[in-house]
Amino acid sequence: MLAEKVKKAIRDIPDYPKKGIIFKDITTLLNNGELFAEVVDYFANKYKDVDFVCGIESRGFIFGGAIAYAMKKGFVPLRKKGKLPYTTVSEKYALEYGFDEIEIHIDAFKNIKNPKVLLIDDLIATGGTAEAAVKLIQKVGGEVLAAGFLIELSFLDGVKKLENLGVKVDSILK
Ligand code: 5GP
Repeated sequence: MLAEKVKKAIRDIPDYPKKGIIFKDITTLLNNGELFAEVVDYFANKYKDVDFVCGIESRGFIFGGAIAYAMKKGFVPLRKKGKLPYTTVSEKYALEYGFDEIEIHIDAFKNIKNPKVLLIDDLIATGGTAEAAVKLIQKVGGEVLAAGFLIELSFLDGVKKLENLGVKVDSILK
């Protein structure tokens, strides 16, 4: 099963980026070409109806970019504040201490009316990042058909935030 393979391919890094946090390192999965392709194909085959794939900086770019390529669909980057060169729309979201902000280009979906979007990131924890991403996509006219993650930390209930916005969540490993 794909979830089992993913579980075996990632590793836990204790006390990263700070003490008490166990970080899920996905670079060991990226190293495995067959499995990386299997993850990409899982999403690419399932969401053929979307017009765009949106990826959240930065690990969402790795998976999202590859998925968009496999589907021959456009890719839209959601980036940390100040990184996108053209006019942006932004959304703040709460962190444990303070806040962060992500942005999208105002004309990200310019060519298509009512564009359908697949949102991709490597991992959903509290859901704050993905919630801000969905709000941004909606602000510039996109409809998020699904949000796909390699890993979902179910005990943090981040999925609820997306479901409250009407977005279906599809995580390979819970
Ligand atoms: P959230 O906003 O859901 O609390 O955090 C999710 C965001 O933080 C994602 O963009 C994800 O890449 C990153 N993140 C948080 N914890 C981890 C982790 O343990 N491993 C990885 N790979 N990313 C994480």
